[in-house]
Amino acid sequence: MAVHLAARGGVDLGGTKIQAIVADGAHKVLGQARQPTPTEGGPPAVIAALERALREAAGQAGIEPSELLGVGIGAPGAVDTEAGTLAQAGNLPDWRDPYPLASELGGRLGTAIRLGNDVQVATDAEFTLGAAREFSSLLGVFWGTGVGGGIVLDGRPWAGLGAAGEIGHIVVKRDGAQCPCGRRGCMEAYAGRRAMEGRARKAVEEGHKTHLFKIMEEKGRDRLTSGIWARALQRGDDLAGKLIDEAIEAIGVAVASANNLLDVQAIIIGGGLGVRFGEPFARRIEDAMMPHLFVDHRPPVVRVAELGDLGGALGASLLVTR
Ligand SMILES: [Zn+2]
Repeated sequence: MAVHLAARGGVDLGGTKIQAIVADGAHKVLGQARQPTPTEGGPPAVIAALERALREAAGQAGIEPSELLGVGIGAPGAVDTEAGTLAQAGNLPDWRDPYPLASELGGRLGTAIRLGNDVQVATDAEFTLGAAREFSSLLGVFWGTGVGGGIVLDGRPWAGLGAAGEIGHIVVKRDGAQCPCGRRGCMEAYAGRRAMEGRARKAVEEGHKTHLFKIMEEKGRDRLTSGIWARALQRGDDLAGKLIDEAIEAIGVAVASANNLLDVQAIIIGGGLGVRFGEPFARRIEDAMMPHLFVDHRPPVVRVAELGDLGGALGASLLVTR
């Protein structure tokens, strides 16, 4: 029973799924549940899905939600931790204006809710429990639909005025490719999964051949997932290989630029593509980084994130202990 006193919840609130966990004081996962993220219905629908996921995870752990020490939520968009509001969450349905997520969900569950940025909490999880445990400074690079980043300096998360860590929007080429953010030449314009898909479609329109979209059909998907990119590379697809080469080059340049400024001990590569491609691609990113490092005789350690699918939710649960 004593362990229940320190039990807390954590949620990774993503654009496609909501992953909830309940963990004990030693960070052991006691229960976990997943819900699809609603595509309509606005904040109330998302909050109802969050409540379902948390009640299910708590039920598995044999705990009432109201007995939890609190629940942390890693959310996309603009998080105001003090006010407990979330705004401009583009991947969530009709979620633009600040909405009081913490008080609404807290009232339903009978426990305190703390909000954090999704990428920053995933970085914190790797720092506290995962691949960067022995370091006090690191840069987390989450290579997925977009490319997000999180920063830990001197053992503390660095959020700046609230928007630090946007490594995907470091400019790697002036007046370069169009980025989903609306600007040009950002690293994400070359490396983000969504942007790479756009580049692949454009290349096909221009007459280039690729298996990417055939594999997508075979798998019954409507977008180029990390698994589809991996399969195309296995088949020796030239276009996929070229686009991935450009992505890795862009990530290497951006990581080196960020490190020239911050001089951290470790770079942790996570995210859907980062974890899917794993260790060999972490080495390729390291190789792409090296020529651009100002101090290259003691480069940062480059590692793949360790915590996998539950990393975001575990990191969110740490918000309760901070
Ligand atoms: Zn951008």
